[in-house]
Amino acid sequence: MATTLIRNAQAIVTVDREDRVLRGENILVQDNVIRYIGPEERPADRVIDASHCFVYPGLVNTHHHLYQTFTRNLPKVQKMELFPWLRTLYEIWRGLDEDCIYYSSLVGLGELLKYGCTTCMDHHYVFPRVGSEHFIDQQFRAADLLGVRFHATRGSMSRGKSDGGLPPDDLVQDVDTIGTARDWWRNSTIHPGFPCTRWPWLPARPSA
Ligand SMILES: [Zn+2]
Repeated sequence: MATTLIRNAQAIVTVDREDRVLRGENILVQDNVIRYIGPEERPADRVIDASHCFVYPGLVNTHHHLYQTFTRNLPKVQKMELFPWLRTLYEIWRGLDEDCIYYSSLVGLGELLKYGCTTCMDHHYVFPRVGSEHFIDQQFRAADLLGVRFHATRGSMSRGKSDGGLPPDDLVQDVDTIGTARDWWRNSTIHPGFPCTRWPWLPARPSA
């Protein structure tokens, strides 16, 4: 049983019912479970000196679009309003593949972890007609690697440019395909791998 002692924390922000902030105390973790918080410095396999650290519960991100991580700093779109911004970026996003999804998830989730966020809900709704069947699997793969608690939501778009919508036609899906995906998701609520969890259905409706 691996144990870790977070020793002599400058502050432990408990977020308990009394909203206590403890100073100079210790946290003992055993197999990823907190077993003790208090003044005793209990023996452990690994000791982290937290005398210059604030320790607090993991933050929760409630809505992300991880795939956008790789297109967020393009100068061309920085001052655009939403719809032109979307139209421009859809031209790039129509080239999304599994690697893009995996690595953008890895980068986005890694950034969240770096700043104390341990749970993320991602809303993915851009599914090119070809090659996007396993996009969500790639997100779970990235979350698994990092140990982030991950909630995927599966959106979709049904109205392409030729139909008065914003995205190119090859980024939208017909209603039957969306319905099949929705039914499949409804019947697949729990991902077997730790620490990923439920897959709700969340429609996306950007329209002109
Ligand atoms: Zn969204």
